[in-house]
Amino acid sequence: MKKWVVANWKMNGSLQLLQDYQQAFGNSENLIVCPPTVYLNQSTMLTLGAQNINEHPKGAFTGEISASMLADVGIKYCLVGHSERRQHFGEANDLVREKAELCLGNSITPIICIGETLEQYQAGKTLEILRTQLKECLPDSKDLWVAYEPVWAIGTGLTPTTEEILSTHAFLREKLSTVTLLYGGSVNENNAESILGIPNVDGVLVGGACLDIDKIQLIYQTSASAN
Ligand code: PEP
Repeated sequence: MKKWVVANWKMNGSLQLLQDYQQAFGNSENLIVCPPTVYLNQSTMLTLGAQNINEHPKGAFTGEISASMLADVGIKYCLVGHSERRQHFGEANDLVREKAELCLGNSITPIICIGETLEQYQAGKTLEILRTQLKECLPDSKDLWVAYEPVWAIGTGLTPTTEEILSTHAFLREKLSTVTLLYGGSVNENNAESILGIPNVDGVLVGGACLDIDKIQLIYQTSASAN
């Protein structure tokens, strides 16, 4: 099975970057690009995903975007519960679950992000935290994806060891036998090959490195040869 690359631009990028992606990746398989919302219906050559939705189906929520609107413009994937949403916008597990349910109800695959903080990692609580997050964030469905993103690895240049990712993903696989499992957190063109080679890592979620078209191309090339 070919491995996945999901590129999360966060609040970065431009139409120019979208054009660069189109040129580099037009109609490529197993690549999902998550630009800011304004760019979501600007390309038919790329598989685009959203970074967030509102937890309400519709209504007086000025400035927000609903799951049905994403579906309306053909979006098939949406990140849910990214740690930056949890940290900056106070999103808790129950809200993450509500958003994931709205995605599923609109035929959008939620990519549900889970992961422990540095403090929890240092206290050896990773699996305990993940167990709780799985229980509280995941709707009862097989049509969702899970991204394991240790909070302390996001944007820091730090990653867990290969053995740590191996055992965490084995733990997740045991609970989620058929679900696509991504690893995210400081993936770059140098470590992508070894991370994508870890059993039960079905792909990577890439933040910082995806803003550089050369780096994301290298990561994508690695993913295409990983199995
Ligand atoms: C992310 O935003 O999900 C992420 C993993 O970021 P970075 O690759 O920069 O750590």
